[in-house]
Amino acid sequence: MNGPALLALQTIDSHLDQIEHRRKRLPEVARHQDAMTAVSALQRRLAELRQRIEAAEAAIGAAERESASITAKRTRLEGQLKTVISPREAEALMHEIEVLTAKRGEQDDLELAALDDASAAEAEIATVESELHEAVAAGEVAAAELAVAHRQLDDERDTTAAERPGAVARLSPTELATYERMRPQYDGVAVAKLDGQRCTGCHLDLSRAEADAVRALPADEVGECPQCNRLLAR
Ligand SMILES: [Zn+2]
Repeated sequence: MNGPALLALQTIDSHLDQIEHRRKRLPEVARHQDAMTAVSALQRRLAELRQRIEAAEAAIGAAERESASITAKRTRLEGQLKTVISPREAEALMHEIEVLTAKRGEQDDLELAALDDASAAEAEIATVESELHEAVAAGEVAAAELAVAHRQLDDERDTTAAERPGAVARLSPTELATYERMRPQYDGVAVAKLDGQRCTGCHLDLSRAEADAVRALPADEVGECPQCNRLLAR
């Protein structure tokens, strides 16, 4: 087993794994996500406000139609009032006219409330539109920053991956097969290094005798960590 060559390949693969790990945790991903969430929230708010204006306009239209019909009825009754002679009939008509006047007042109040609501919504739309404009711009900046971060990782990955064929060529097919089989079993790290008395795979110390035994192995052999069973190169 070519310990240094195995370790060289392991170093390259660990670096590649680490690049993909960093890709998932890029702060630019979270910032871009936050920016997009802000844009969606403002778009939703804008849609709600536009619906509120539509509802208010419909209410204004309904109140105006109702008012016109009440007014027409009242005008008709006022006309009748001029022609009646019986005081009782006149009193009944006057009462009916009063009721209609009150109803007309209610419609006017409804219309005013709807007008107020529409103008409040319109004022808020102006604010939300300007906030949305800023949020979209911030989202574009965040997207560009995310693209740069991805590109940097891609470059680092390509440079590192380019070293891999050279490292693979230094291993026999059996060594490579052993390495490839062990890597997924050991969380990506098949080959660790004996660093003083410590295994860099599991970060536990070997006893002095165990470490000495690994160092005493012939140059073409690699040891095995007694704690984690990874190949242990010197
Ligand atoms: Zn170990």
